[in-house]
Amino acid sequence: MMPMPNRLLTSLAVRLNGQIYLFDAGEGTQLGWKRAQLGLRGFKLIAVSHLHADHCLGIPGLLMLRAQMDDPELFTIIGPPGIGSFLQETQRALGFYLNYPLQFIEWSDAGGSLAYEDDQVRLFWQPLKHTQFCLGYRLEERERPGKFNPGRAVQLGIPKGPFWGKLQTGQGIVLENGEEIRPDQVLGPARSGRHLAYVVDTRPVKAIYTLCRNVDIAFMEGMFLPEDVEHASAKGHLTVVEAARMAKRAGVKQAVLVHISPRYNGDDLLRMDEQAKEVFEQTAVGRDMEIYSVPYADD
Ligand SMILES: [Zn+2]
Ligand SMILES: [Zn+2]
Repeated sequence: MMPMPNRLLTSLAVRLNGQIYLFDAGEGTQLGWKRAQLGLRGFKLIAVSHLHADHCLGIPGLLMLRAQMDDPELFTIIGPPGIGSFLQETQRALGFYLNYPLQFIEWSDAGGSLAYEDDQVRLFWQPLKHTQFCLGYRLEERERPGKFNPGRAVQLGIPKGPFWGKLQTGQGIVLENGEEIRPDQVLGPARSGRHLAYVVDTRPVKAIYTLCRNVDIAFMEGMFLPEDVEHASAKGHLTVVEAARMAKRAGVKQAVLVHISPRYNGDDLLRMDEQAKEVFEQTAVGRDMEIYSVPYADD
């Protein structure tokens, strides 16, 4: 697939408390990055689905863009076997300098389903079914502390102010009389974080359900109209109807179809949208630069 004058290649930026987790970067991704004014400071990680040009050729440019910052931190690149050598060889051949270290995390059959974790998220991966080894991802935000109970805090004699704030973020406090208060004394049960899936370039396969199970939002490939299912099958892709059907079965709350074939434009996109919605109402064809805010299920 190639970038078109009116449509960028598929790339997803997930922004969470100032951090940006990027999924895939084909040619021209830095144009979308700049247009979206994402900034570079929080950009510390990219997860790559597979080594097809439309998913990884934009990474060298993004790495160079990031080198314009003063003192950038370590950058993590997650992906299929070979992503490390692809980028290292490109860097050597082009001779560009990076003022920060790179860390590569490559899939291995023995490695399990957890690809990466930090203090905000856990990232899981599963092999999909494409013409090239391809990975799908599931991003899980960590659990949040339970709801603060102000009535209980008053009962315990905790004065309003900084103590309340500390307890709300899950830290213990010591009152002036020396009494210790644990957060669980004033907080409800821990609340689930938000979950997201990124699944592109695949035929229907079980792993899609594992990745998409009950997620708040799933970005899934919907490359073809159902009438072109033979192309989809031959090239290792999904139709919009196949994607919508799997999203529904997996209990996805909202599905966004991406990686749309350049053969479709205008009315085709409307037809894609309609046909997907007939199968699963909470599906829509994604457009360039669209922003989705994902609310907490219990808010
Ligand atoms: Zn591909
Ligand atoms: Zn592709």
